[in-house]
Amino acid sequence: MDLTFSDELRMLRDLARDFTETRIRPIAAQIEREHRVPRELFGALAEAGLLGVAIPAEHGGAGLGETGLCVVMDELTQGDFSVAVTYGAHASIGAMSVVVGGNAEQQRRFLPDMASGKLLAAYALSEANAGSDPAAMRTTARPDGSGWVLDGEKVWITNGDVADVVTVYAVTDRSKGAKGITAFLVPSTSPGFSVGKREEKMGQRGSSTVALAFDGVRVPDENRLGEIGGGFKIAMATLDRGRLALGANCLGCAREAHRLSVDYARQREAFGKPISEHQAIQWMLADSACDIFTMESLVYRVAWMCDQGQSFGRESAIVKLVCSEALDRVVDRAVQIHGGMGYSAEYRIEQLYRDARVTRIYEGTSEIQRIVIARDVLRRGA
Ligand SMILES: Cc1cc2nc3c(=O)[nH]c(=O)nc-3n(C[C@H](O)[C@H](O)[C@H](O)COP(=O)(O)OP(=O)(O)OC[C@H]3O[C@@H](n4cnc5c(N)ncnc54)[C@H](O)[C@@H]3O)c2cc1C
Repeated sequence: MDLTFSDELRMLRDLARDFTETRIRPIAAQIEREHRVPRELFGALAEAGLLGVAIPAEHGGAGLGETGLCVVMDELTQGDFSVAVTYGAHASIGAMSVVVGGNAEQQRRFLPDMASGKLLAAYALSEANAGSDPAAMRTTARPDGSGWVLDGEKVWITNGDVADVVTVYAVTDRSKGAKGITAFLVPSTSPGFSVGKREEKMGQRGSSTVALAFDGVRVPDENRLGEIGGGFKIAMATLDRGRLALGANCLGCAREAHRLSVDYARQREAFGKPISEHQAIQWMLADSACDIFTMESLVYRVAWMCDQGQSFGRESAIVKLVCSEALDRVVDRAVQIHGGMGYSAEYRIEQLYRDARVTRIYEGTSEIQRIVIARDVLRRGA
């Protein structure tokens, strides 16, 4: 197996790296202060060709698959986690719902505009009483003439207030449990669609996370994604990709925390020498280097499996679990290496520590990833 990047992927990485250095880093502090990622940044991402990186070329994207998406997520997160998460809710779980579940006509209708940034996307599965167990959702869609009428409420929707089109999952037949859920592409301009409370979060404060309400929202049948009752499958297949891209987020954040720690350890002195010369600090740096190498190996190996058309559900849960927990250790060591300064908002490490924590929660908690992995191990064997 050859896992070296092609010339195309290397060029993509250089492009995303340059974008991060010139367009994201200079405004990262402002994004954190104002709790907002400027919409113009998405125009710039589209112009740079980064918005539709995993969208097939025939639909206006770059056609660089999950590996391309992971490369971009890895780089953008190093500049600012909120930008990368806003990007991911659009380019990963938003657009990928249409790639995974859309028919040819829907892909033609939505993907080029998602690649160009004309349409921003979001993914709405979670509800107040249906997070880890989304099949318990209450939002309904009932047939009405040539379309559907949606009623209910979603919570924790990243990009929910800035998206132009939201993939909404709703119950169409309660008696069938998970097999009675259907997916719909809902324009945010639809009458009855409204944005509710915006969450005040511990980290990733620039990324918007809101509740959405659907009060008799009419959706034409041509916006139904996949089969009636096939929504849960689309939701899970999309999350397989989302969890992988999230692993790339974790990797990017860990690289940034580690780099800052190495720099700090070299220049901070204690007991008459740089702290990097104390073995306890060296061991922390070594452990973080091991974690980052593990994360990098996993993310790009599983992205390769996905792009080869192999099944990767168990592996994407492994990526999500291992990378989010490894990131937690890396940012924790980074704070420790910075001493008191690691706890000060003056230093970027304090923000990275807060930004990292949610990766063990969203797109399925660590506990849920273990359930997914164990179920697959018991079903298909070790
Ligand atoms: C910042 C942020 C952004 C998000 N963005 C989106 C988005 O864009 N779209 C979207 O649809 N959702 C989004 N979510 C929702 C997210 O996916 C859920 O928060 C997550 O799946 C957990 O659900 P919950 O919060 O309801 O926790 P709960 O389901 O209430 O879980 C609480 C605790 O119980 C544990 N638990 C639950 N069931 C079991 C079990 N069977 N065995 C063992 N332990 C269990 C959990 O692991 C957790 O520790 C976002 C969440 C956050 C915080």
